[in-house]
Amino acid sequence: MQWEVIRKHQQDVAGANIQDYEASIAAFSWAREQAQLDGLPKGGLNIAHEALDRHVLAGRGDKLALRWIGRDDRVHDFSYADLQAAANRFANVLARRGVGKGERVFSLLGRTPELYMAALGALKNGSVFSPLFSAFGPEPIKARMTIGAAKALITSETFYRRKIEPIRHELSSLEHVFLTDCSDDPPVGATNLTAAMAMEQDSFETVWTVPEDMALLHFTSGTTGRPKGAVHVHQSVVAHHVTGKLALDLHPGDIFWCTADPGWVTGASYGIISPLTNGATLIVDQAEFDAERWYRILEAQKVNVWYTAPTAIRMLMKAGAGLAKQFDLSNLRFMASVGEPLNPEAVIWGVEAFGKPFHDNWWQTETGGIMIANYRSMDVKPGSMGRPLPGVTASIVERSRDGKIREVGKPMAMGELALRPGWPSMMRAYLNEEERYRKCFAGGWYLTGDLAMRDADGYYWFVGRADDVIKSAGHLIGPFEVESALMEHAAVAEAGVIGIPDAIAGEVVKAFVALKEGAEPTEALRKELLGHARKRLGPAIAPKDIAFRKNLPKTRSGKIMRRLLKARELGLPEGDLSTLESEEQ
Ligand code: AMP
Repeated sequence: MQWEVIRKHQQDVAGANIQDYEASIAAFSWAREQAQLDGLPKGGLNIAHEALDRHVLAGRGDKLALRWIGRDDRVHDFSYADLQAAANRFANVLARRGVGKGERVFSLLGRTPELYMAALGALKNGSVFSPLFSAFGPEPIKARMTIGAAKALITSETFYRRKIEPIRHELSSLEHVFLTDCSDDPPVGATNLTAAMAMEQDSFETVWTVPEDMALLHFTSGTTGRPKGAVHVHQSVVAHHVTGKLALDLHPGDIFWCTADPGWVTGASYGIISPLTNGATLIVDQAEFDAERWYRILEAQKVNVWYTAPTAIRMLMKAGAGLAKQFDLSNLRFMASVGEPLNPEAVIWGVEAFGKPFHDNWWQTETGGIMIANYRSMDVKPGSMGRPLPGVTASIVERSRDGKIREVGKPMAMGELALRPGWPSMMRAYLNEEERYRKCFAGGWYLTGDLAMRDADGYYWFVGRADDVIKSAGHLIGPFEVESALMEHAAVAEAGVIGIPDAIAGEVVKAFVALKEGAEPTEALRKELLGHARKRLGPAIAPKDIAFRKNLPKTRSGKIMRRLLKARELGLPEGDLSTLESEEQ
């Protein structure tokens, strides 16, 4: 189905950071953009300096940096100076304990103010910050903290007792645990963060880091093997700053709400760093999604720029445009979405409910920042991810028979989405996985693993992921990780995990399990396995459904053919079965 283009008018162009897309591309230079930031003496650069210190030094310390809204509607305001002072205290806490430059500081927190202080304080201290999603269970946490060689962890006492204590003896690099809501009887080997911060000065000289020093470690999942730790450096702040300005149209003083959790890359890059470098106020809501609550926040906080995700938009659609119209959302200037394909219906629904479309944009953990976007002043083609950011070269490529990578010139021809390396926030490595990193590049391109098409006007259209990683409610889930947890159960012989389409979450996880000899495929066992997976993995990753099979389809080399499981489940063509091992039913 062809959707009508949403034309932009004078009011969309006036005051927009991109007035004319082509002219912005022609005039763009990363070096010039970097020069807009302070930097540190002798060519140094530090993300937290650009996010906080720069504003305070320029006399903007009293501007509102963060408004935190508690589950119970309590509000805590932090000016840029307040947030800097809190980050300084946390940096002092780390430094006093010998957590130094390049060492890894992990967080496992809900959306609490401490998370923001910790992220910025760790960066000020020259340490590497790695946020974990708070719904992870012990196994995903252990895998990530082990790969990342976590030296310090900031978490809550509840999470600590439930998720860390059972694995602490296996986390050999972990020396310091800070608890945000420490009781009078804290667990052995953990420090009360509030008390520790109260003892520290609120001044701290940001540690001198250079642009190529490692700053952030974000984990992402592959179809096989362990999660990958994408390494990002301080230089990425240039891209966070620029893409916030150009793709999200952020202006100083804007009230900005990024609904993503900082446990994922969007919530860190655009929920913390980008809005702060752009001098905006970030709104943080501790509570989970609730349509009415969200509209109340948009109205009461006078949000100007809103960055959310297709799953949330689909849930709002379910609640109906009528609900949106009960609120005064006239301050809303720009709405954007990321994380998975945004259905054209959702883009158009934005116009119905808010009088303006959602602007889809595309990027990945690896790219560190938005690469393709729909801009405020540019016409929107519903269903398209938009056009590349100024300073970013994208293309559609394919591998020819001789193994060479070549660009696919024809409009709307499908191929792999590829980017020319060189923008500041590109990952510098998968931590300790040289080979996996190297495989992402060919013929001078970074290959994204996504299939897409480009139309004659240069708009990009998402087709699907080249591999079979599952994307549920905006989170990437590696089947391997889920299968491994299921396999731990005494009754399980084999497990194969796929994503199946879901109207709300995009995809949900479904597992196919073959049982060991003697185990009976009963309903009681099915429930037990669901509970086991939930406990091991947390609700965000655990399968929603489990089906028993006598055998799972496998390749001759022993790999479970998830593609085939999926085709059978959805009644799709089974495709090439030449590598399929004969199946015993
Ligand atoms: P992550 O690394 O978790 O941010 O996931 C990145 C992946 O999410 C991309 O490679 C895409 O497969 C998918 N993705 C992100 N944004 C979009 C979008 N706007 N449209 C379609 N897929 C998207």
